[in-house]
Amino acid sequence: MTPLPPGSTLGILGGGQLGRMLAAAAAELGMRTVVYSPDERPVAGQLAGAHVRAGWDDAAALARFATECDVVTFEWENVPLATLDLLVGQVEVRPGRSSLAHTQDRADEKRFVNAHGARTAEWAVVDGPDAIRAFGHWPAILKTRTLGYDGRGQAWLDRPGNAEAAWEAIGARPAVIEARVDFEAEISVILARSADGGTTVWDVPVNSHADGVLSRSVVPAPAALAEQIAVARAQAIGLADALGHVGVMTVEFFACADGPLVNEIAPRVHNSGHWTIEGAVTSQFAGHVRAVLGWPVGSTALVGAGAVMDNLLGDAADDWLALLRDPAAHLHLYGKGEARAGRKMGHVTRVVG
Ligand code: AMP
Repeated sequence: MTPLPPGSTLGILGGGQLGRMLAAAAAELGMRTVVYSPDERPVAGQLAGAHVRAGWDDAAALARFATECDVVTFEWENVPLATLDLLVGQVEVRPGRSSLAHTQDRADEKRFVNAHGARTAEWAVVDGPDAIRAFGHWPAILKTRTLGYDGRGQAWLDRPGNAEAAWEAIGARPAVIEARVDFEAEISVILARSADGGTTVWDVPVNSHADGVLSRSVVPAPAALAEQIAVARAQAIGLADALGHVGVMTVEFFACADGPLVNEIAPRVHNSGHWTIEGAVTSQFAGHVRAVLGWPVGSTALVGAGAVMDNLLGDAADDWLALLRDPAAHLHLYGKGEARAGRKMGHVTRVVG
């Protein structure tokens, strides 16, 4: 693939904080960005060269966007496939359709993972309380097939008797049910795959969650997880190859006594990779931009002995002045308005050693 020259324009579908940090990385590399988002004031638009405000099904707006961009990427895996189909043929889209098609629906994603040699928790598709009661692995978690994130669209069940309440709690929508995994740790493999098929992997963080939302990522992972991490890395690369993915992709795993289980695939940069901005030679955002431009991804090596990234959720970002006084803290605020409980308002990274 011929590398696009500096000064080219990168289109970003989606306007959240991931798009914002992609736009910042692109700007550092001399690129212009255009954000496409139906939102009135997307936080990515604050840093991008332009914001196209239009719906995901607006063919005319997408055609104009395509003419402005040299390559288009996405920062959100729920961009409708039909939107991508309207762009394909007009502008190069990286990653491509396959990366979205296999990751938007939890059932399709698990089938894809299982078909490519990686294990998941025991799971089943369910369409109502009867199907939930028929599941054979308890306790369990019910998750909507589409559009769930950060613990939303999920309900825990400790026994089949809770089926009705859990079904109502997720809005009575098509779902999958999964056995609760008794994991040793949650880890994520963040990789960048170039158009020529070469793959680079960052250090694998150990992730902690609160109420289904990521709260902390730490690298390096403890030595006790090394064997599992080697297996998880190989599986994540196999999945990226099978998708023909170009750019950054993240696979979340549960590290268990008998080896890793895939939790989910994010076909994009990921919250558990934010530490790479200061903690790695090339950040996940720069790595993604470089890969989709056809440039070398760069080194993913740690710059120090490790890094700790803490999310600033809800009113935690109110402590910004204290964080600014901490000489070790790299503070990132996302420019969002209202600090609702659990909302990702920013993050702070401390490089270790
Ligand atoms: P998800 O949105 O699927 O990534 O789920 C959010 C978080 O909920 C995960 O990172 C885990 O901490 C927890 N979780 C989800 N599914 C399971 C499971 N099957 N077993 C144990 N914990 C889970």
